[in-house]
Amino acid sequence: MADPFDRDRERRVPSRRPPRLTFDTPVTYLKGVGPARALMLARLGITVAGDLLRHVPHRYEDASTITPINDAAIGADVSVLGQVIAKGVLPTRKGLRVFQAVIQDSSGLIEIAWPGQPFLDRTINKGDWLLCTGPVRFFHGRRLQPREYVNLGPDEEGTGGGRVLAIYPSTEGLSVRMLRSLVQQHLDALLPLVQEPLPADVLQEADVPALPEALRMVHRPASVAEAERGRARLAFEELLCVQVLHRRAHQVARQARPGRALRSRRTLTTQLREQLPYALTAAQVRAVREIATDMGSPWRMHRLLQGDVGAGKTVVALFAALIAMENGAQVALMAPTELLAEQHARGMTALLAPLGIAPVLLTGRLSAADRRAALARIADPAPALVVGTHALLQSDVAFANLGLSIIDEQHRFGVEQRAVLGDKGTATDVLLMTATPIPRSLALTLHGDLDVSVLDERPPGRQPITTVVRRESARDKVFAFAASELDAGHQLYVVYPLIETSEKIDLKNATTMFDTLVAGPLAGRQVALLHGRIPGEERDAIMRRFRDGEIDALVSTTVIEVGIDVPNASVMIIEHPERFGLSQLHQLRGRVGRGQARSYCILLGDVGGEAAERLELFAGTEDGFEIARADLRLRGMGDLFGARQHGDPAFRVADLLRDEALHDTAREVADRLLAQDPELAQPAHAGLRHLLTVGYARALDLFRVG
Ligand code: ADP
Ligand code: MG
Repeated sequence: MADPFDRDRERRVPSRRPPRLTFDTPVTYLKGVGPARALMLARLGITVAGDLLRHVPHRYEDASTITPINDAAIGADVSVLGQVIAKGVLPTRKGLRVFQAVIQDSSGLIEIAWPGQPFLDRTINKGDWLLCTGPVRFFHGRRLQPREYVNLGPDEEGTGGGRVLAIYPSTEGLSVRMLRSLVQQHLDALLPLVQEPLPADVLQEADVPALPEALRMVHRPASVAEAERGRARLAFEELLCVQVLHRRAHQVARQARPGRALRSRRTLTTQLREQLPYALTAAQVRAVREIATDMGSPWRMHRLLQGDVGAGKTVVALFAALIAMENGAQVALMAPTELLAEQHARGMTALLAPLGIAPVLLTGRLSAADRRAALARIADPAPALVVGTHALLQSDVAFANLGLSIIDEQHRFGVEQRAVLGDKGTATDVLLMTATPIPRSLALTLHGDLDVSVLDERPPGRQPITTVVRRESARDKVFAFAASELDAGHQLYVVYPLIETSEKIDLKNATTMFDTLVAGPLAGRQVALLHGRIPGEERDAIMRRFRDGEIDALVSTTVIEVGIDVPNASVMIIEHPERFGLSQLHQLRGRVGRGQARSYCILLGDVGGEAAERLELFAGTEDGFEIARADLRLRGMGDLFGARQHGDPAFRVADLLRDEALHDTAREVADRLLAQDPELAQPAHAGLRHLLTVGYARALDLFRVG
């Protein structure tokens, strides 16, 4: 079957010119494409005619997005379209050579300047139509400083004829104009060859047009809205493919993961519920139910519990632990730091005391005798809740009867470490927890084969945290305010992006500022310095003293980010806030506002431009999902997740943020299709199956039927 999305098809070069155009016609046979252009097209992934259809414009311009030149006001950011009437290279006093052009439309003229790019004189000619986007400045008159420009050539029809102008991704030496004309020239011949791979009911459910129509819409739209509709169709197909693969991989993995059924017997869990000083939120109830269902099934649980800082993940984990213990099994809960493990053990000890259960703590700090006692409890098959750190992973920690592994702040552990804990029992259920709040469908994509529960609701009665941005000139006032909070018996965090002076970047750092603060605004207080180069044990000792109120103020780097709970800390000052990602700021801010007192997060520094807007957005919301979304939009996926755990699926058209709703639909459709037809063996699903097997190597293993 000929298919434009077929990436692995054989590309045999026919010995003579084929009689008519097909998807497989090599581009070298197309009019106007010689060997040199073919090479450049190959760089864009275009080697045969069918590839042209998949080369989708990345944006569009029309009358609604293009400003008449006369209306381009100083200070505005505009796109203008005009014809070059004069041009030349001018030297500046500083010796920089500037290429300048004057362009004209029916409303007027404007000067465009490209400093340091005299070579443009060779490619931009008088009479060419230029589409230029950028800010308008004043420089002996109005002058546009292009961020981006597209040379549409000398023909007026190249400009879209007053309709929608499609801008294609191009490459060095291959102009947008050339690409567009190549696509347009062959579109009518190629479109009738396109077949719809998806079932009609799926298209209907997603409310997207069929493929041939969608391709026409993206390449030759009547309006920008229509182009968007076409793009949505292509995006949906990508999202659907990835979701089908994930859900199928998940199905297959689950079947290969026999577990033990740990059924909720409502003995310990009911007792806990009655003991709790608060009622669970609806989101917590839902998560507990999802977990109980997984644990009660004969498959191994592999679930991610995701919830913003303070959403109350710990108590959900506790319910899971009790379900396992009701079934006579042992539970391991692993946290990334000793302090966090101790914090969990302490909190759980209090909650479980009425149930007659005493958690076992296992960290690197235990005395030899305590460690022996802990190991003995672990080796005894009686139900137990063991809370610890990496120390749990050591080979002499031998669980007799591990039924459930819980990993808090799971992103702090490597894949292998998580696996080691899971493998300390046979058929152990696994619950991972994370505070990185990302939209659910995104989480499903990023975390591939996991099930996901989301706590999207905060426990009631939380004090809001007052977040403000303050300028350098207010420094004294800010620290005076912090001092007044210290006087009131509260505690303070001051956070810096760097540990010490750096030759490369001129920023305040924790080490130098520690001295400055101790000599100045924090004189006479108990102040400690905390950063990642301080050995782990010492670091934990400092945090312990802070927790116990022996230290008033911590001057630190982002090491305090991880789930530490010191309810008495009411103020956090963050210097150079622009150096942090929004999600990171959010994690940091989560260290305050944990007690009864009103809390403050002060972002201190002279920040301007886009960074200032980012910080204002952050100051305006405490919703971690909203912040994560903004972060994704501004900084991309990589930053939010650090090292990629699963490798993002490569989306050519889909945009995980913009297409969130489509993504949800894709997931629902994928679940439905796989429930009906797990191997996509039905004739109605042949098109989708084909799409998957040619586009994704993994699909060959997942859909094996012949
Ligand atoms: P996180 O999700 O960040 O790990 P925690 O589990 O540490 O959050 O919970 C934060 C705080 O909220 C804890 O002090 C906990 O006792 C409290 N908490 C949890 N659930 C509720 C609830 N339903 N109502 C009131 N307080 C709750
Ligand atoms: Mg937590």
